[in-house]
Amino acid sequence: MKEIIKDSCINEFDPNALEEMQAVNKIIRAIKPIKSSEIVNIKNALHRTISSSVRASINVPSFRNSAMDGYALNLSDLKTNKFKLSEAGVSFAGKPFKSSLGKGEAVRVMTGALIPKNADAVIMKEMVAKNGVYINFPKNIKKNQNIRFIGEDIKKGERVFKKGDELDFSGLSILSSLGIEHVEVFCRPKISYFSSGDELVTTGKKLQQGQIYDSNRYLLHGLLEDLPVVFSDLGIVKDKKLHLVRKLQRASEKSDIIITTGGVSVGDADYIKDALSEVGSVGFWKIAIKPGRPLAFGKINDSYFFGLPGNPVSAAVTFQLFVIPAINSLLSQKRKKVILMKAVSKNKLKKKLGRTEYKRAILSIINNKTYVETTGLQGSNIMMSMLKANCYIRLSADVSEVKEGDTVEVMPFSTKL
Ligand code: AMP
Ligand code: MG
Repeated sequence: MKEIIKDSCINEFDPNALEEMQAVNKIIRAIKPIKSSEIVNIKNALHRTISSSVRASINVPSFRNSAMDGYALNLSDLKTNKFKLSEAGVSFAGKPFKSSLGKGEAVRVMTGALIPKNADAVIMKEMVAKNGVYINFPKNIKKNQNIRFIGEDIKKGERVFKKGDELDFSGLSILSSLGIEHVEVFCRPKISYFSSGDELVTTGKKLQQGQIYDSNRYLLHGLLEDLPVVFSDLGIVKDKKLHLVRKLQRASEKSDIIITTGGVSVGDADYIKDALSEVGSVGFWKIAIKPGRPLAFGKINDSYFFGLPGNPVSAAVTFQLFVIPAINSLLSQKRKKVILMKAVSKNKLKKKLGRTEYKRAILSIINNKTYVETTGLQGSNIMMSMLKANCYIRLSADVSEVKEGDTVEVMPFSTKL
């Protein structure tokens, strides 16, 4: 963290806020990846991160098998028998026909069934005509058609996963297809979070005048639940430096990352930065983005600290832009490539030069053309703008206005089906 203070000539009083990617790079450079790992059953390994390479100890498939329900035959034999063969037996998936094909013979095969050694093609059931004991085959059969080869999916010895790879449903399928039951993954980062603000009340209580429900802890819960982390909700802390100091101190005893929301700006009741400098070291930046300009990043004992802004939209955007890369780094994951695409803006948009803006918007395709439209009011307190959105419009620092019909850069929220 010392390095950050030294490097960073930019702090809250500096008019030159850090550019988004500079901030991300500083965070990534400050983070020491987690070393500890554990062995888990693959059923518990979804979204976990591989901690050491996994190699295939078998071929997949491990035997030649049929891609269709049909007949396995030998092409040269087919020609000599005028495309008329008799059925020598049946090969089921799991119950193979173990002999070789005799002269003038074909074997009925099911999908996934072992193919007799001297067969070199499979023809679909629907393509043949049965005529008494004979089966008539068409003439256009190609060598090796409908045969799945040994190792065509995974070759024995091949590295299927390397350190830092995240397991998804395909990963679980691959591991189990190799007969692997347990896998070594990095321990999950421990994340603690709390909200700060005198106005905040937990749901279930009645609001007094001037109070609001604390929604940021639920926002964070929703964001963290999707990630390979263990997290604990530390509640609400009043706008009192001493309370914040104590809470941060205690949180640092059991967390890899501490996240707070609120109290990080320059208002009279914003004590996060002061509290942080008392218990830890501060790398404090104003970041040249909107929403989410004030963001405190620092270190308290061995925990990394993120003081996110209080406005819910800002908290969400800064979590996605800065906390997720930190979690990825803790897990030795490669930086995920964000998908950026182009779309035609349906709105006229204005912004200040010198900062990157993330507008919440709806992406749609009409007559093969991609359009994007903002979701109404864009204030950082307007959470409905996020609820309705399926993407961000990303306006870079050098853009000052967008005309209706201009092409803009868009980041879809999710590319999952
Ligand atoms: P602050 O960053 O503390 O100045 O807060 C900025 C705005 O976000 C204010 O309108 C706060 O009331 C609001 N805010 C702060 N924390 C929360 C929270 N946990 N849930 C909902 N709104 C919040
Ligand atoms: Mg506040």
